[in-house]
Amino acid sequence: MRMIRGKMQDWPLLVGTIMDHAERVHPTREVVSRSVEGPIHRTNYGEIAVRSRKCAAALKRLGIAAEDRVATLAWNTWRHIELWYGIAHIGAIYHTLNPRLFDEQLAWIINDADDRILFADLTFVPILERLAERCLVGRKLVILTDRAHMPQSSLDLLCYEDLIAAEDDTLPRAALDENAPCGLCYTSGTTGDPKGVLYSHRSNVLHAVLTGGADQFGARSVDCLLPIVPMFHANAWGIAFAAPMVGAKLVMPGPKMDAASICELMHQEDVTISAAVPTVWIDVIARLREEGVGKLRRVLIGGAAVPRWMAEALDDLGIALCQGWGMTEMSPLGTTSVIRPGMEDFTREQRVDYAIKQGVPFYGCEVRIADEDGVSLAHDGETSGRIMVRGPACVGEYFNGAGGNVLDASGWFDTGDVGTVDSFHYVSLTDRSKDVIKSGGEWISSVQLENEAASHPGVREAAAIGIPDPRWSERPLLVVVRNDDSAVTAGEITEWLTARVAKWWIPERIEFVDALPHTATGKLDKKVLRKRYAAEGAQAA
Ligand code: ADP
Repeated sequence: MRMIRGKMQDWPLLVGTIMDHAERVHPTREVVSRSVEGPIHRTNYGEIAVRSRKCAAALKRLGIAAEDRVATLAWNTWRHIELWYGIAHIGAIYHTLNPRLFDEQLAWIINDADDRILFADLTFVPILERLAERCLVGRKLVILTDRAHMPQSSLDLLCYEDLIAAEDDTLPRAALDENAPCGLCYTSGTTGDPKGVLYSHRSNVLHAVLTGGADQFGARSVDCLLPIVPMFHANAWGIAFAAPMVGAKLVMPGPKMDAASICELMHQEDVTISAAVPTVWIDVIARLREEGVGKLRRVLIGGAAVPRWMAEALDDLGIALCQGWGMTEMSPLGTTSVIRPGMEDFTREQRVDYAIKQGVPFYGCEVRIADEDGVSLAHDGETSGRIMVRGPACVGEYFNGAGGNVLDASGWFDTGDVGTVDSFHYVSLTDRSKDVIKSGGEWISSVQLENEAASHPGVREAAAIGIPDPRWSERPLLVVVRNDDSAVTAGEITEWLTARVAKWWIPERIEFVDALPHTATGKLDKKVLRKRYAAEGAQAA
């Protein structure tokens, strides 16, 4: 049979086309950053587009070629954005490093990615000095600042602003296939070594398009977006692509991630939409309650489950909550919480019941749940299974082939999360497969226990882990951080939980601590907790 092709233009989906568009249509839309040097810095998409081409020319002059990895160890600022676009312009690969990782992890990742050059903010010069011998030999180092702020260092450091100033902005974009690699981000390696996820131009552009809808980011060109989620955490959830695509103003928090600094920016710049992990919102919400919400109308929260009190607090403040679920391997979003037909007349309690679920898959991310053998399970809101995903912005294989074949025979990726899907197609996470508490042959959802405990007014944060038990195989242990002014007791928490979860879920043991350990991406670090309490158990025995 003779094949015919569609007769439309071949217009590859390259991330550079996003900044081209912003330069043409939204050139004066502002990008405001708290600079690492201190002052607030103001620029716009027009200037960023020009500087990103100069940055591309500088990279070329330094010998960087297509497919080379270019590492960034940087906060959310205008420079980090122009760097991403500059790197993509020549077909090289931006590789975000998470500065909150341990030195050994960073060294491992830099070596695995084999970064040719590394761009770092002033804040992170000490990290470079510590890593120098271990993994930086033969790699060029550039500091993201101007000549006046260049640090004294034993290292051979180049100055970013000097490099840019020496170039003009006429370098044409490399002719690239849309499936060419564009970005690299490593998973945090909660199990085993970190694995690299290699995004393509196409997957980044599609992710920005697919997550740009009113039920997802919901950003319009009149909006002002503040991504608190760092660009080194799963692509800042795509905001550096989604915002210039629609021409939304961007406000970048730079190195000051405390609630006071964040809220100051929110008020000064009339931020309408913001995004961060739940931990960040604990303090930000407390401040917004005191200072008022200003123009803030919508927040995207993901990376960990949104506790009930948080959904209620945002509802009280009149801020729409969009919970997102996904992971580095999914670019990173897969579902967002959406008001579905049939939900319009929900009571507040019902609305909150749904707001704390993980959300509905949007076009471009297929979701199913499966049993241990990969067989699909019912989407009845009751049956719990492994969450499997498929789509153009989901991982196909890891960088350097790590982990081998990660898809099943039909191309589904096992997310490592466990949950249900209900008749509204809402995905509800009961756990990460390695965090479920297996008691007496049945599963206790650590996430649900934590959420119920954290909704007690005297509790700031709670973590539930399984500890070995001779009779039940595992029993839950709840580790609790009290609110500043609270003297809540274990008995009171038990009573609170008894009214909310099955009796056999109630932890026999509740521990109070001053703070809980978090991972480099702001999640409860249960690996650390499990180790701590296992060691204690061994000592007692
Ligand atoms: P890591 O922190 O392990 O590097 P990611 O940042 O990619 O990796 O985290 C992905 C994981 O975070 C998911 O597999 C899931 O367990 C958890 N997660 C993400 N969003 C949510 C959410 N809205 N609710 C509960 N858990 C979430």
